[in-house]
Amino acid sequence: MTALLRAPAPALLERFAAIVGARYAVTDTAAQAPYLIEPRGRYPGRTPMVLRPGATEEVAAILKLANETRTPIVPQGGNTGLVGGQTPHETGNEIVLSLGRLDRLRNLDAEANTMTVEAGMTLANARAAAAKADRLFPLSLASEGTCQIGGNLATNAGGTAVLAYGTMRDLTLGLEVVLASGEIWNGLRALHKDNTGYDLRDIFVGSEGTLAIITAAVLKLYPRPRGTALIFAGLPNLGAVLRLLNNARATAGRDLTAFEFMARIGLDFVLRHLPDARDPLSTKHEWYVLAGISSLISDDDARERAEALLAAASEADIVSDAVIAASLAQAGELWRLREALSEVQKHEGGSIKHDVSLPVERMANFIAEASAAALKVVPGARIVPFGHLGDGNVHFNVSQPIGADREAFLARWDEVNEAVHAIVAHYDGSISGEHGIGRAKRHLLTAVKSPVEIALMRKLKAALDPNGILNPGKLL
Ligand SMILES: Cc1cc2nc3c(=O)[nH]c(=O)nc-3n(C[C@H](O)[C@H](O)[C@H](O)COP(=O)(O)OP(=O)(O)OC[C@H]3O[C@@H](n4cnc5c(N)ncnc54)[C@H](O)[C@@H]3O)c2cc1C
Repeated sequence: MTALLRAPAPALLERFAAIVGARYAVTDTAAQAPYLIEPRGRYPGRTPMVLRPGATEEVAAILKLANETRTPIVPQGGNTGLVGGQTPHETGNEIVLSLGRLDRLRNLDAEANTMTVEAGMTLANARAAAAKADRLFPLSLASEGTCQIGGNLATNAGGTAVLAYGTMRDLTLGLEVVLASGEIWNGLRALHKDNTGYDLRDIFVGSEGTLAIITAAVLKLYPRPRGTALIFAGLPNLGAVLRLLNNARATAGRDLTAFEFMARIGLDFVLRHLPDARDPLSTKHEWYVLAGISSLISDDDARERAEALLAAASEADIVSDAVIAASLAQAGELWRLREALSEVQKHEGGSIKHDVSLPVERMANFIAEASAAALKVVPGARIVPFGHLGDGNVHFNVSQPIGADREAFLARWDEVNEAVHAIVAHYDGSISGEHGIGRAKRHLLTAVKSPVEIALMRKLKAALDPNGILNPGKLL
């Protein structure tokens, strides 16, 4: 079964609008605009209506009606997704379901280290709610001011703290979802152990809005660190970067809460385009690492461990030069250099993206061979690798040659992807480390999954969404 391919009739739109109230059924073109384009501007779409429900029951009523009338629904959280999963197609047939008004903190139990939040709460607000109760909710992304818990769940978001705390899947105990039929499944359990059959929760995490609408979640909280130390280090080669990672793991264990890396060209882009950015080190290096060490005791404790790590690394000629942030403000400046990387690439012309993951010890070989492969397709292109090295996740981005025509370069997107993904496959990696499949990588899925796996995924989709109303044309 597939959802209807014609635009919903005006009378049907009125029925949808009546569920949320006219004020929250957006039809005005200007007001709709922010919902129709995603951060990379690759998939501009159209919709007859953006619905903004304020309660789970409203979501349920919307899906019931959509299922009965086979109206396609595109769930949207903060609209920061990077694979075009959250915007409607150009057809104008699909209704956008924006979850932003479901943003309540339903419960926070500091003793049990859990909180129950609604899907539309921004990640920054969820982190702030935890901090207010002297707890840590560890998921951390550069987009956290805008992205929402529901979107984080639907994409199984990663970010900079995965090394110590895992992905969004690992941080979730229970879910409330609305099924395509309009039924509500309340799986808001706060149990760490629950062996009562199939784990339904995990089916919905990472399902990119294609199996159900997530409306709330029980999330895990952690003790709030009493101190942190942030290292910014320059290193001569990727081998040294990997050795530093291993040493940091060996000495800090779970207190190593971030290990990010970037090539010099990435720092050059940031210094050129980020206002007030400055190079923290006095000389240039091939590679840079931003490593965070937390302590449950104090800042001094974290700093001492960071200093010991750096002293040993410099003795062994692993690190060429480094600084440890002397204040929270300085740590913020160092993080800004890393977090601006996604944004500043736009100012250097077209950029062809790869969000890939690999067994971490294969990273150096991957980057060397993938660089050669990309340059063979587009000689003169600039390779900008950066990312979450501790998780083996690299954003292997390829910027256009200086002075090249942007559109002509971007027209080579699939060719460059193909060359790079072949090296990913050779090293047993994944073509999506954290951003998901969405529209951008949908055509690649059958090449990286076995026919058995694809068939299972399709059966699951057909069982949960028999009329194909949930985010059609995305993921599968
Ligand atoms: C500057 C920047 C930095 C980023 N850094 C990272 C990073 O480090 N790690 C990382 O993993 N990602 C990163 N991202 C990508 C993005 O922020 C994440 O994918 C995030 O989890 C998306 O959340 P969102 O609320 O914006 O979801 P959206 O973009 O609105 O939606 C993403 C997908 O989830 C679905 N969806 C959204 N809400 C729901 C819901 N309630 N129920 C069912 N389906 C839903 C949508 O249909 C879509 O398929 C970054 C993005 C930007 C712009």
